[in-house]
Amino acid sequence: MDGARGLSTLLVHGGSRRTPFGETSEAIFLTSGFVYERAEVAEARFAEREEGFTYSRLGNPTSQMFEERMALLEGAEAACATASGMAAIFGTLMAHLQVGDRVVASRLLFGSTRIVLDQFLPRFGIAVELVDGTDLAAWERALARPARIVLFETPGNPTLEIIDIAAVAELAHAAGAIVVVDNVVATPVLQKPLALGADIVVYSATKHIDGQGRCLGGVILSSEKVKRDILVPWLRHTGPSLSPFNAWLLLKGLETLALRVEAESRSALALARFLASHPGVAEVLYPGLESHPAHALAMRQMRAGGPILAFRVGGGRRRAFEVLDRLRIVRISNNLGDVRSLATHPASTTHSKMAPAEREALGISEDLLRLSVGLEDLDDLVADLDQALR
Ligand SMILES: *Cc1c(COP(=O)(O)O)cnc(C)c1O
Repeated sequence: MDGARGLSTLLVHGGSRRTPFGETSEAIFLTSGFVYERAEVAEARFAEREEGFTYSRLGNPTSQMFEERMALLEGAEAACATASGMAAIFGTLMAHLQVGDRVVASRLLFGSTRIVLDQFLPRFGIAVELVDGTDLAAWERALARPARIVLFETPGNPTLEIIDIAAVAELAHAAGAIVVVDNVVATPVLQKPLALGADIVVYSATKHIDGQGRCLGGVILSSEKVKRDILVPWLRHTGPSLSPFNAWLLLKGLETLALRVEAESRSALALARFLASHPGVAEVLYPGLESHPAHALAMRQMRAGGPILAFRVGGGRRRAFEVLDRLRIVRISNNLGDVRSLATHPASTTHSKMAPAEREALGISEDLLRLSVGLEDLDDLVADLDQALR
């Protein structure tokens, strides 16, 4: 499939390979191993003299179709599919890092990513420095010394802060670091970090890539050289492989990714505007709103504001829970990126392991709710939020 094709064409056709049966939809190769006609063939494949599959931990045709479609979509040379988003993030970090290395990251990160940085990496002699991701001077100070990896999310979950990818990438490269961006909230449809200077993009494919709340998955996008020399040697022997069945679900999810994300993002903007004028809402955090502190930067980096927003309802945790409990169409769930609209209270769920003082400093207040907008009729979502906030 030609990488010059348009996004929607790539989402439907990219990476597809048909078997001699001529199936229209991609086949699921639900097999752990592969057989060989002759012993020399097995020998040649293990010696990497011949292309071909040997064992699904090392590679599988359905997973490979997913990797090729993701690489075309992202504009990356290569992709590595993983069992979950955390497997993609942890695998990227561990494949690159060794004792004595230094990581600089934004403070506002997915909860489990923070645990990896705060608790696990130091056990292996890796120093981690966290900065306010929106503060370029803080990045500059932290990157005055050499670092191996710079890691951040933009927009950040759950407060939707925006980080200047190009500016941070320039500072990171000057410090000798590679730049890893977790692009989950923007999705590959709305933001292309590689084009802005990032070296690696990671996704939890569990979110909008599946998009229908069915399975876990992850993917790492990189250069061919980084995949071959750094990622594959680590991933193939440590085993965070994506199930071929899940790879197939993710291929089906990708077919409709652009349609879903664009529709969800349109509804998110309309809901953000509605909530911003609602008397029961203290503040709306959404990069697509002119009132967002980094609206101009967000609109330079992203094609739209995205399918996630957050809002403060005032009155602390009790009022936040009351609003959640009154919702009828929007369901309470810490997941995101589903066709169903989902709302969560980050302080008691996704970010509950964080010290309360740090949570407050990051703006994850007790009255903050995060809303992942789905595909329901906008009027129904507006009515549901309106009755819950009254
Ligand atoms: C969900 C999520 C992850 C982790 O992905 P899993 O598939 O749950 O392992 C990482 N980063 C962000 C921003 C996420 O939303």
